Amino acid sequence: MILDLVDTHAHLHFPEFAGDLEAVLERARAAGVRCMVTIGTDVESSRAAVALAGREPDVWAAVGIHPHAAGLADEARLAEIERLAAAPRVVAIGETGLDFFRLLSPRDAQERAFRAQLALARRLRKPVLVHCRDAHEETLAILAEVPVGEAGGIMHCFSGDTAIARRCLDLGLLISLAGPVTYPKARALPEVAKVVPADRLVVETDCPFLPPQPYRGKRNEPAYLAVTAARVAELRAEPLEELASRMSENARTLLRLR
Ligand SMILES: [Zn+2]
Ligand SMILES: [Zn+2]
Repeated sequence: MILDLVDTHAHLHFPEFAGDLEAVLERARAAGVRCMVTIGTDVESSRAAVALAGREPDVWAAVGIHPHAAGLADEARLAEIERLAAAPRVVAIGETGLDFFRLLSPRDAQERAFRAQLALARRLRKPVLVHCRDAHEETLAILAEVPVGEAGGIMHCFSGDTAIARRCLDLGLLISLAGPVTYPKARALPEVAKVVPADRLVVETDCPFLPPQPYRGKRNEPAYLAVTAARVAELRAEPLEELASRMSENARTLLRLR
């Protein structure tokens, strides 16, 4: 059985993959990953994401400034993100959002950069890829104030409970599940995997981070997406092949991966 998978959130242009990217992409293709979106986290990394998407026919790019780098999100850098967003294979703005867990940038800088990128995504009519860690109330409040609009967006590496998931859906976002849904200690995520409507669900690796259960402690890569998809299918008691295709269709429609 060859699956049809889309990795909606990867960082393939990160240095972790510099030594063996071709092999990583080959394993992804062999595992049924037909499209991968490589996500920028600051200006430099967004530029690298665009360059990689220009070289590989099944890799697309997103450009943005991660909350960790939000302290550096001045006007010039945001203008550079806007310029990069005009490149042909850029399908979304992000990742952007709030991360009050590691708090590597001050809260006000994170909120400013998030608002600015939400406004940019709206202006460009592109979906937005939202990162949210230990900041659900604040993130949802900003999304209520600056809605994603018709282009929509994805709550990436979803880490909330079913109530938060419903609020994200109401705000026009898809829910993306990553490796943590496979962890034996996951409490809320298996419930979330069950309740999100099939047309609002996608999966991702967030590689090189957060590998699914059998690969914990190792570098994550897109080929492992099948493990996460299989766990989600098991939780939903749905056939894997069908669910994978459905989630890939959701991703292709939102991100216009054609
Ligand atoms: Zn993230
Ligand atoms: Zn990420």
